Amino acid sequence: QAKESGKRTWCIFSDELAERARIRRETEVDLHRALENNELLTYFQPQMCASTGEIVGCETLLRWKHPTRGLIGPGSFIKHAEDTGFITRLGDWTLREALRVARRFPDNMRVAVNISPLQIHSANLLNTIVNALAVNQIAPSRLELEITESVLLSDTEFTLERLRKFKELGVRISLDDFGTGYSSLSYLRRFPFDKLKIDKGFVQDIDHSEECRAIARATLQLAKALNMVCTAEGVETEGQKQFLTENGCDELQGFLISRPQPLDKLTHLIDIRDVPSGSDEHVEEGDR
Ligand code: C2E
Ligand code: MG
Ligand code: MG
Ligand code: MG
Repeated sequence: QAKESGKRTWCIFSDELAERARIRRETEVDLHRALENNELLTYFQPQMCASTGEIVGCETLLRWKHPTRGLIGPGSFIKHAEDTGFITRLGDWTLREALRVARRFPDNMRVAVNISPLQIHSANLLNTIVNALAVNQIAPSRLELEITESVLLSDTEFTLERLRKFKELGVRISLDDFGTGYSSLSYLRRFPFDKLKIDKGFVQDIDHSEECRAIARATLQLAKALNMVCTAEGVETEGQKQFLTENGCDELQGFLISRPQPLDKLTHLIDIRDVPSGSDEHVEEGDR
């Protein structure tokens, strides 16, 4: 009997593995097609200045409008793209697309783009950034690259060197999901990040947990002492907003201010410019 049930367990396990492998293959083929067929979309989530209420930037967050599966969040495809190396192409596309859309932002508003570890290793990234900034006439200081601590785990020296290149260009570097990775503090000493983003895991329990309030407060003090701008992500309640603002958090991002949306759905918060769409193709053509 024990043998039987062992066999059954094995069957279920192997079915699950096969299913996972199938989804994985499908997603990979699908992702290539998605990029060709314009199924990938850039959504934008506003970042608000805590003291003035002004929207000072937007984070670019990818969405996939899948023909049969509906709207899919990055949680289910970024990992695949990283595992297969496709993230390099996808990341280039996202940067170009984010900066193309950012031409419609008000003059000083910043655009943040998430960057995967593999992208940092791609020799092409710097070029893509320089080109996309020039084509869209966006000042480098308006672009923020969001990286996580995992970027710094391997090839640290190489990575820091790359990050310094971006900084020399005038691009800003943010440390995303702060507090969830490893060795955060030693990296803060070795690299001058412009911004630190408190992970939403710490923000979520501010209303209920004294520990979370203590961590949030300490993080804000650390950011201030090291001259970094501090942004809280995942702000959902008035209580969180008030606590963070009172404790010196510079910027707030979260559902309380706005969910990520296509830029056209953010007109109530952002003064969006009309950029003639005919001219983009033309300008971009020369760059390709
Ligand atoms: P992230 O960069 O930390 O982005 C913040 C995530 O928190 C987003 O999830 C956002 O929709 C979500 N969020 C924002 N405000 C709230 C809130 O008030 N409450 C809650 N519960 N969640 C909130 P999303 O869009 O699903 O993206 C997940 C992750 O996927 C991102 O985390 C980022 O690491 C990655 N990602 C998204 N777009 C890209 C991209 O273009 N390139 C790369 N490499 N990664 C991306
Ligand atoms: Mg981010
Ligand atoms: Mg984050
Ligand atoms: Mg995150």
